[in-house]
Amino acid sequence: MQYPEPIAKLIDSYMRLPGIGNKTATRLAFFTIDMNQDDVDQFAKSLVAAKKDLHYCSICGNITDEDPCEIDRDQTRDQSQVLVVEQVKDLMSIERMNDYHGLYHVLHGVLSPIEGLGPEDLNIESLIKRLQTNEAIKEVILATNATPEGEATAMYLARLIKPAGIKVTRLAHGLAVGSDIEYADEMTLLKAVEGRTEL
Ligand SMILES: [Zn+2]
Repeated sequence: MQYPEPIAKLIDSYMRLPGIGNKTATRLAFFTIDMNQDDVDQFAKSLVAAKKDLHYCSICGNITDEDPCEIDRDQTRDQSQVLVVEQVKDLMSIERMNDYHGLYHVLHGVLSPIEGLGPEDLNIESLIKRLQTNEAIKEVILATNATPEGEATAMYLARLIKPAGIKVTRLAHGLAVGSDIEYADEMTLLKAVEGRTEL
């Protein structure tokens, strides 16, 4: 027997999510059918609103429902530092440790020749433009992950930025090689930011 079309479609939708196979998708679909109507309505509304109301900040690439984002609107933050991360998730991890009060720039990826990702695929052009037009920025902290792609991206950016006379630093290697900022504990992150070295 085939599933009725509405549930087949729901299973199909769940399977589009990362890490969810047929079995999990089927379980989630049947769970959804058993949820009460209000919860399902709320779930559907959240999905649509998250996609519709969230955008990338035109200055830093952070995810936001207002442009510029909350961090860029906050004039109490240190306007002289820009910390460059691969993903919004990394920005969130660094914000959680509550010790860094500068600005950010989100690349939305790393250089990866294998995946065919070049500089034009990342949020790099806006970073360069930002550095050229904002004289308040004195230091760029490269906080890409300690993976080969993260290191290569940091080196690429350092070569690009340093000629402009802006200080370029890299997070200290308290982070294990190959490790992701997203999963680092707060103490490790704190030490990595404090012990950053000039490139
Ligand atoms: Zn922003």
